[in-house]
Amino acid sequence: MWKRIVLALILGVIVGAFWGEGAQSIRWIGDLFIRLIQMVVVPLIFITIVAGIVAMGDPQKLGSLGIKTLAIYMGTTLVAIIVGLTLAAIIQPGVGVDLSAATPGELQAPIPIGERMMSIVPTNPVAALAEGNVLAIIFFAVIFGMGILVVGKNAQPMADIMDAGAEVMLKLTHWVMEFAPFGVFALIAWVAGTQGVAALLDVVALAATVILALVFHTVVVHSSIMKFVLGLSPVKFFKGAKNAMLVAFSTSSSMATLPVTLTAAEENLGIRPAVASTVLPLGATINMDGSAIYVGVVSVFAAQVFGVDLSLIDYLLVAATTTMVSIGTAAVPGASVFLMAAVMGTIGLSPEQIAVVVGFVLPFDRPLDMLRTSVNITGDLSVATTVANWENEFDREVFDSTGKSRQRS
Ligand code: ASP
Repeated sequence: MWKRIVLALILGVIVGAFWGEGAQSIRWIGDLFIRLIQMVVVPLIFITIVAGIVAMGDPQKLGSLGIKTLAIYMGTTLVAIIVGLTLAAIIQPGVGVDLSAATPGELQAPIPIGERMMSIVPTNPVAALAEGNVLAIIFFAVIFGMGILVVGKNAQPMADIMDAGAEVMLKLTHWVMEFAPFGVFALIAWVAGTQGVAALLDVVALAATVILALVFHTVVVHSSIMKFVLGLSPVKFFKGAKNAMLVAFSTSSSMATLPVTLTAAEENLGIRPAVASTVLPLGATINMDGSAIYVGVVSVFAAQVFGVDLSLIDYLLVAATTTMVSIGTAAVPGASVFLMAAVMGTIGLSPEQIAVVVGFVLPFDRPLDMLRTSVNITGDLSVATTVANWENEFDREVFDSTGKSRQRS
């Protein structure tokens, strides 16, 4: 499958480069792929979380799993932003850049963190499902799963339904993935033809800093977690994660990639359903290493452009705000742009200056979004592998024989 996706990527770039704006006409094929995959997301999240919690068998285990998961998600995001800030401070992509020609972008106020936290508890779970409010769905699914566990024998039919449902949803994901090469081809041709690489040339230093930080974080940080924390082969980890990385790259949405991330976790990385189906949907929503890197680098870039001297306190402020605000960033294309505006406000840039920076980065946001989304889901998979190891929900045999499929247990 991954070979077909890579081939589609390469063909997409070539066709897009030659076809230019005309590639817009096949975008619908990519949109259809995204719709198909999104169709699976909401029922998949709900059913697999409930099934995962039932598979855990012990409500107390959930507490330890939850705390570990949140701690590592926050910790890795913080490392990501430190990588981004350090490289931006060293490379100084904003020094000497003149933004006077940039058209200010439109700013949209991000949802305040308090409001966002409150909306995690749905007043109506069915409405949460209908609206695709992921954190609220996760909250209700966790409670529902715990209810099944506590009721015990009498709730067994419900547990069986959820388990069978999870298997069916993963089957649907496989079917949708058969269409992936076509979707990927169309999406990449559209990006390459309409907003491609030429736009990046305007902002080489900024883009290079972002890309360097993304690559460093993925290769050095996640490989180190695999090798030194878990004693696992980083190469096998990346092999297991590659389908999800490629789909994230093509769709620019962690949420749309979730079904593929889940199958990669269970079938290639040996992460048992109990951990995969609880840790990954949460990660897709709140854990965004790539986006944090991007926001950090752009904030330092903006400070350099407008001659704002950043103290250590400012850097810490950017790191802390980005980590917190990334929790509230939607896992959809381009969401970081709003996150960015909120973070830049904390280092004293005026709304006008922020609007100019946003206007400047928007034209080339898509290619960088593709990369950072790939890094986002790699981070989710790396954390899920770690939690699975620590919680004894890890199947080493499956990890070592990456690629061979396994049955859900
Ligand atoms: N597109 C990213 C994601 O879905 C979010 C962002 O950085 O804009 O993970």
